[in-house]
Amino acid sequence: MEESPVTVLGAGIVGICCALSLAQRGLSVRLIDRSEPGQATSYGNAGIISPWSFIPMALPGIWKKAPGMMLSAERPLVVRPDFWPRMLGWGSQFLANSSESTVRDLAVAMAYLCTPSVQLFRQHLHGTGHETLLSDSWYVQASRDASKPTLDALEYRIRLERGGDLELITANELHRLEPALSDEFKAAVLIKGQARALSPGKIAQVLTEKAQELGVDVIHFEATSIQQQPQGWSIQGATESLQANEIILCAGVWSKQLLEPLGVKLPLVAERGYHLEFANAGVTINNSIMDVEAKLVASSMKNGMRLAGAAEFGDAEALPDERRQQLLTRQAKFMFPDLSVEQPAFWMGRRPSFPDSLPVLGPVPGFDGLFAAFGHSHFGLMMAPQTGEVMADFISGQASQEHVAAFSCGRFL
Ligand SMILES: Cc1cc2nc3c(=O)[nH]c(=O)nc-3n(C[C@H](O)[C@H](O)[C@H](O)COP(=O)(O)OP(=O)(O)OC[C@H]3O[C@@H](n4cnc5c(N)ncnc54)[C@H](O)[C@@H]3O)c2cc1C
Repeated sequence: MEESPVTVLGAGIVGICCALSLAQRGLSVRLIDRSEPGQATSYGNAGIISPWSFIPMALPGIWKKAPGMMLSAERPLVVRPDFWPRMLGWGSQFLANSSESTVRDLAVAMAYLCTPSVQLFRQHLHGTGHETLLSDSWYVQASRDASKPTLDALEYRIRLERGGDLELITANELHRLEPALSDEFKAAVLIKGQARALSPGKIAQVLTEKAQELGVDVIHFEATSIQQQPQGWSIQGATESLQANEIILCAGVWSKQLLEPLGVKLPLVAERGYHLEFANAGVTINNSIMDVEAKLVASSMKNGMRLAGAAEFGDAEALPDERRQQLLTRQAKFMFPDLSVEQPAFWMGRRPSFPDSLPVLGPVPGFDGLFAAFGHSHFGLMMAPQTGEVMADFISGQASQEHVAAFSCGRFL
C-alpha cells in the first residue's frame, strides 16, 4: 500500500499531543476533527497539571462514601436515572479496583503518564510565545472541617512515599496563602510542585499551530465509521472517505461508538462535569484550590475565575443539567464571598472514563494498524503529553512493554 500519513482521529488535547510527538519524530501526520481542535472536553477542565495526580478515583472505602456523595446537597456525584442499567457493570468493576494493593498498582501506572507532565508541557510551549499559559502552582485541598484532613490517608501516603512535597496547614496559614478563600475553610493539604493551565483551550490551539508548523495536516472531518480494508483503513465521512495505514483513535468518549461496530466493546462511560467561569470575578487566587466536600476546583484563569467539577454519569449526548448553574454559583460564592457572579459562562464536558482510571493506549488487538489513545477520565490534560510520547513509541516500534502493559486494551477484552 502507498505510504499515507499516520492519522490521528480526534483533536482533543490527547490527539493534539499525539500529533505533535509523532511530528517531532519526523513522521508524516494527519490530525482530523469534526470541530475546532481542543474545544470539546479539553476546553473546559480545571487546568490541573500535576506530577502528583496519580491516585485512581476508586479508593478503599469508596463504596461507603458514594451514597453520601449522591445524597449530599453539594451533588459531587450523580447517576442520571436512565443511566443506572449501564452503570451497574461499570460501577462493580470500579469498586473491585478499590483495594489498597490495586490502588498502589494503578498509581504506579498513572505516575508513568503524570510524572513528566509539567516538563513536557513546558517543552511543547517553548518557543511559541505562549509559555506563560502555564503557571507554577500548588494544589490546595481545602476542608471545611479542621479534623478531617490527615496525611495518613492512603492518597497522601502514596504521594509521600513517591517523593511528593505535601504539607498539612491550619486555617490561619490557609488564609495567609489564599486571602480570597472563605474562612469557612478550616484546614488544607498542600500538594506542592505542580502547575496549572491558565487557558486549556488556548494551550490546545497553540499546540495545534505548533504541530502544523512541523508539517501536521489538520483536517476538518467527521468520521461516521472506520472500516478495515484488505490493506489499511478507510475512515468514512458523510460524503467522502480518507484512507490510512495507521489510525490512532483519540476521540475521547466518542471513541466507543467508532469501535463498537468492529465488535470491540470497552467499558468506557461519559463522566460528565461542569464549569462556571466568572469573567469579572473581582477576586484572584494563586493556586488551584479544591473544596474537598464539594469536589470542586477553582482556578484564576486568563478569562476569569473558573470553578470546575462534578461527576455526573449519563449519556454523552444528554442535555446539560441547567440546575448545575445555580448550584455552582452558590458553591462559588461559598468559596469566595467577594466573588462577583455576574454573567458567568456555563459549560458541560464529558470525561472519557474507564473503571480503573487508566486510559487505553496501544494497538487494538486483532486490528492491524489501529491504535487506541483515549479514556483519560479526570487526568487527560496532564496525561496528554506523555500519552503523545507513548503513542509515538508505539508507531515507531519502540514502546517499552514494562511501562505500557497496564494500558493495553486487552485488559477489558
Ligand atoms: C469538569 C472537568 C474538570 C477536569 N479537570 C481536569 C484537570 O484539572 N486536569 C486534567 O488533567 N484533566 C481534567 N479533566 C479531564 C480532561 O479534560 C479530559 O480527560 C481530557 O480533556 C480528554 O481529552 P481527549 O482529547 O481524550 O478528549 P476530548 O477533548 O473530548 O477530544 C475528543 C475530540 O474528538 C473529536 N471527535 C469525536 N468524535 C469524532 C468523530 N466521529 N469524527 C471526528 N472527530 C471526532 C471531538 O470533536 C473532540 O475534539 C477534567 C474534565 C472535566 C469534565
